[in-house]
Amino acid sequence: MYYESTRGGVRKITSSEAIVKGIADDGGLYVPEIFPKLDIPLENLLNKDYRELALYILKKYLSDFNDNELIRCVNNAYDEKFQKKEIVPLVEKDNLHFLELYHGPTLAFKDMALSILPYFIKEAMRKLNINKEVVILTATSGDTGKAALEGFANVEGTKIIVFYPKDGVSKIQERQMITQKGKNTFVIGIEGNFDDAQRGVKEIFKDREFNKKLQENNYTFSSANSINIGRLIPQIVYYVYAYLKLLRDSKISKGEKINIVVPTGNFGNILAAFYAKNMGLPINKLICASNENNVLYDFFKTGVYNSNRKLILTSSPSMDILISSNLERLLFEISGRDAELIKDLMEKLKSEGEFKIPRKMKDKLKNFYGEYATEEETYRAIKEVYQLTGYVIDTHTAVAYSVYTKYKRNTLDNTKTVIASTASPFKFTRSVYEALNGDNNNFTDFQLIDKLSKYTNLKTPKAIEDIKNREVIHRRVCKKNEMKKVVEKILLG
Ligand SMILES: *Cc1c(COP(=O)(O)O)cnc(C)c1O
Repeated sequence: MYYESTRGGVRKITSSEAIVKGIADDGGLYVPEIFPKLDIPLENLLNKDYRELALYILKKYLSDFNDNELIRCVNNAYDEKFQKKEIVPLVEKDNLHFLELYHGPTLAFKDMALSILPYFIKEAMRKLNINKEVVILTATSGDTGKAALEGFANVEGTKIIVFYPKDGVSKIQERQMITQKGKNTFVIGIEGNFDDAQRGVKEIFKDREFNKKLQENNYTFSSANSINIGRLIPQIVYYVYAYLKLLRDSKISKGEKINIVVPTGNFGNILAAFYAKNMGLPINKLICASNENNVLYDFFKTGVYNSNRKLILTSSPSMDILISSNLERLLFEISGRDAELIKDLMEKLKSEGEFKIPRKMKDKLKNFYGEYATEEETYRAIKEVYQLTGYVIDTHTAVAYSVYTKYKRNTLDNTKTVIASTASPFKFTRSVYEALNGDNNNFTDFQLIDKLSKYTNLKTPKAIEDIKNREVIHRRVCKKNEMKKVVEKILLG
């Protein structure tokens, strides 16, 4: 299996090379040259537990890793760090299936990939005989940063530098990051939003001269963002797992299709579901749920991607994104792998902030359904699910739920549906508590955690208890045009 760039300007490389590199030198994203197929009938996979299934799928994509290397990665990643033995419980409420992807160390779905990526990188470096120190440079809308810090902290041969929008993440998310231990971790708040942070990181990656200087100092950059193919592939696993679980529990019959609803920001998680579909998983609709930053909703409706609008800070901050990087990978597939066209579209996006896809590409988007939820609808969804079922969902999952109710109302489609539940409600306590109780004003975030726990009779997750009393370690803040300078200072003194 080889990986090629969506912009066609570089040679094909192996998975270990693609994982170490992160982004391609032509600015494109690495994609597998073909989609490997799941073994049919899927019933043959029914007895696999999460780790076995992960190994089965990873082997198909990371074909230059041997079994022992992959087993080491899988076993190091999906262990007791996860609070549930099944790793990703599938919870049925009111005929809907919530795939709880948030039982890892940082309480959001990013742990699913970021707990394994450091081991991929470590194994890949060894295989490729690279003796340089890998610098993971990451922009975060809140959840990636902490998950990456947790994954890479004290991993030998790596340093991790995380930029987050100073006023664009929840207090709990911020506290999770700025209390991060590990002598190879660096956390910096920027005066700007997530798109500024992401743009800054991409520019540093593309800065040839800067990269050369770092190489001379024995450093090499890589990325823990979902532009790294090593982030995407582990996310395919849980969609297959959810399908098999439904099959095992006789909730669906052989070959029956399901819908998947994904609260979407950078388009990584839903793209993994699209990859699963391309591998042969019976999926009917991929429902792309946005918050008020509804660029993707407009795109699916009109074929025009227009990022020229003001970013709105919502109660689902991990989806406050106007440039969804991984859409490029979808565009590449639906264009019939036309790298020239993708290069064109991405150049337009950069220079004009928008692009329009040709008619024949738009026709290929029929498997997707885009919708969005307003803030009010999101809050209402949290309350409604709780009142109907006693189940507590976070704001991101609530966006997905709200969008699904609209989808159902508009289409009357009764297909069994899985909602990707991407964060613990305890990570977004302020909004969740307000949605349930109507008021949160006079309490600190940590008081609200106790209140939410009492109100819902849910035990506070250990990962939240842990950060309560930790000391703040990272206090650095910079302007959005100072990111490179900060990186230089950290690495070169
Ligand atoms: C990152 C994140 C999302 C968005 O996922 P993408 O892969 O960026 O589309 C949704 N919900 C939560 C809780 C997240 O952390």
